[in-house]
Amino acid sequence: MAATLVALVAVGTAASVKIRIRSTTHGFTWIESAFMVGLAVAPAPWVVLSTGLGVGITCAIVKRAKIRSVFSVAKEMVLVSASALTLLLLGHHGGSSLSVADLIGPLAVAYLVNVVLDELLTLPIIGLATGTKVSYLFRENWNLRLATVVARFFLILGTLVILQADSRLLAAIPPLILSLHLAYSGRIRARTEQQAWQRLARATDALNAVDLNTVLRTAVTGGAELFSADEVEIELTGTGRLVRGTAKALSYDGPPGAVADGAGLVIPVPLEGHNTGDIGMLRLRFRGPVKLSEREQYTLRTFASALCTAVRNASAYAELNRVAEEHAHAAAHDALTGLANRRHLLDRGAEQLGQRRTEGVVALLLIDLNHFKEVNDTLGHAAGDRVLIQVAERLRGAVHGEDLVARLGGDEFAVLFHGLPAPAVAAHRAEALLTALHEPIELDGMRISVEASGGIAVAPSSGGMTELLRRADVAMYQAKRAGRRISTYAPARDTADLGRLSLGGDLPRAVADHEFTVNFQPIVDLGSGEVVAAEALARWRHPARGTIDPLRFLETVERSGLLPAFAEAVLDQSLIAVNTWREAGFDLPVAVNVSPRSLLDARFPGSVLARLRAHDLPPDRLVLELTETLTLSQLEVVDQVLGQLRDAGIQLALDDFGTGYSSLSVLSRIPVHELKIDRGFVTAMETSAEAAAVIRSTVDLGRSLNLSVVAEGVESEPQRRALWELGCAAGQGHLFARPMPAARLLAALHQGAGGRPGTLAPALHDEGAVVRLSPGRRPGPRRAERLPHLPA
Ligand code: C2E
Ligand code: CA
Ligand code: CA
Repeated sequence: MAATLVALVAVGTAASVKIRIRSTTHGFTWIESAFMVGLAVAPAPWVVLSTGLGVGITCAIVKRAKIRSVFSVAKEMVLVSASALTLLLLGHHGGSSLSVADLIGPLAVAYLVNVVLDELLTLPIIGLATGTKVSYLFRENWNLRLATVVARFFLILGTLVILQADSRLLAAIPPLILSLHLAYSGRIRARTEQQAWQRLARATDALNAVDLNTVLRTAVTGGAELFSADEVEIELTGTGRLVRGTAKALSYDGPPGAVADGAGLVIPVPLEGHNTGDIGMLRLRFRGPVKLSEREQYTLRTFASALCTAVRNASAYAELNRVAEEHAHAAAHDALTGLANRRHLLDRGAEQLGQRRTEGVVALLLIDLNHFKEVNDTLGHAAGDRVLIQVAERLRGAVHGEDLVARLGGDEFAVLFHGLPAPAVAAHRAEALLTALHEPIELDGMRISVEASGGIAVAPSSGGMTELLRRADVAMYQAKRAGRRISTYAPARDTADLGRLSLGGDLPRAVADHEFTVNFQPIVDLGSGEVVAAEALARWRHPARGTIDPLRFLETVERSGLLPAFAEAVLDQSLIAVNTWREAGFDLPVAVNVSPRSLLDARFPGSVLARLRAHDLPPDRLVLELTETLTLSQLEVVDQVLGQLRDAGIQLALDDFGTGYSSLSVLSRIPVHELKIDRGFVTAMETSAEAAAVIRSTVDLGRSLNLSVVAEGVESEPQRRALWELGCAAGQGHLFARPMPAARLLAALHQGAGGRPGTLAPALHDEGAVVRLSPGRRPGPRRAERLPHLPA
């Protein structure tokens, strides 16, 4: 009986189904069927001992490693003891000849205990030994395992029925177990085979990526998973790259020499496709000894070949992409400077004009180098090219964030500004860009000064990029003609604007018939609301066209030869107004706009002083607002004119400050008394930090040079207060008053705001903020009478 049991256990152990996980092979045996039968028919101690003996003998026969033999013997003895104990607790004593029917219940429970305990003991150890998740092991093939458990239980019952009929039939049990085993292992093999093919298909499918990195990563992790390898590595000979990792992640990616070889068994496969040379190696690495089955070897070759194809495809795709990108770049860029070309500029501009509504103002700056032809002619084209490259580099370096710099050809460049908070900001940025060009360029030890003219246009409502480019071009030629660095496109000065041309013929009559009148806009102390000056703004009362604004007729007047007459008419009316106000007790200076052309006229100062004398007014009651910068060549005359005016005691103001000059050098050439912050910055100051910064630096500049600062276009109380907080003392704008005839302004001064004559707005109620001025001496905008009140 004992011998039979031992034999039974031995056969059950030997007939195992082998499954390899990593480098560990696990056998699943029939042993529990054997000892469950034993427990049903024999005393428990016997069965326990026979089990130990049977397992031990099998281990010795198949030459299993000592430690694993000990583990197997111990585990099986524990399991059989647990089952025996269960039967005992259920009141069944081994060896009794109970009927099978009585035994089913207790036997089922005991078997269940055995199965559960077996899983609990084995799976964590497999998990630990192979680095596999235990939860995964519990889930894997659970249905097959459950079926096996049920089958085994029926095998146990069947065996007992046979034994009860005739104990000699026990001899038939081992063949029965064997045939069952063959059927079972066959199924397992078929199933594993099928799964293996599916996994191979999935793994090779996943290799079909266009990005080489993805291919390599997928190959490493997928390969490790597919072959249950501890590590997989791929070495590409062409690029000298080695990628290594486990089923979970990459552990190395770099040159092959820089990493030590791992330990353990390595199975190498060359990466070669059909009739093509190999491109590298695929290596599987196992910590322990492993022998791949024939199927696995075939799978490995298939996988390597698929990987080879995938690597080739990804490389080809990358090359294709690179070439396409190179072509796209060449088509959109200038070969000499690497800047965008005209085509790219037009495309990008059109794109931005399309989304303009949501993204702020789009503007274009056109830059043309002055005297570039001379550089080419005297120093040669190679030197010219180097100048262009330098210019490109400087523009690129000075440009704001996403603004696009382009070379349109020759010595013409363009910068596309987008997302501007306000149109005035374009002029400010343009100024910074042209200043960057101003620094001399080193050429073979020679220093060359590059001067440039810029034309700015803000995106028109229609006409798209073509119109924007045309307008910037018009502005640029205007700048060149007027000898200015930068000019902003104004429709009134566009010769393509036909309505303007017909005005020319009407001019002589306008002068003769006094059709030019002047409106006055008060300039107000931002703190107290007191009127401190007034700006004269010309109007043309055209008999047929009604009132025409200066921007529509100024250019025509400037070019007509009637400019001196026009200027004199404006000056006369302004000085008459000053006298009227003075007599009424409001001693306000008047600010008169001066055309840059007047500054080129050496007779201009004389005529101004003559007008002052004629009206019997001290020179400090007149402020002249200058709107233009002039290039050095013209500055000599301008210097003279301005010098005479200044020396005579006339105040000078720089108009539209921030949009045209801002460089200190201009300020040092033109000694002015006042800066007028352009309306564009005031409009944008609440929404744009850039605009606010321009205002702040203008105010700071004013303070350090002891100049007064006037803000234009103040339209709201918050703007007034913000400007005042920034230290700006005076302002003009619709908040206080629109331009109006001299008599209307006088009436408004008499009436005052809140019963305070001379004021047009209530004071800002900040204790100590407003410095009261001594009576009889009203502050002109030219002098900063109060210390700027700045937030701490
Ligand atoms: P400017 O010197 O910058 O004058 C300010 C302009 O802004 C004026 O336009 C004025 O009416 C307007 N303005 C004032 N406050 C506000 C405000 O709160 N909101 C808005 N939206 N606009 C405001 P105007 O009168 O059409 O004058 C335009 C330009 O024509 C002047 O700009 C000046 O450069 C020139 N100009 C005017 N009169 C003369 C003149 O007699 N001689 C010369 N040479 N140029 C003149
Ligand atoms: Ca002005
Ligand atoms: Ca202005």
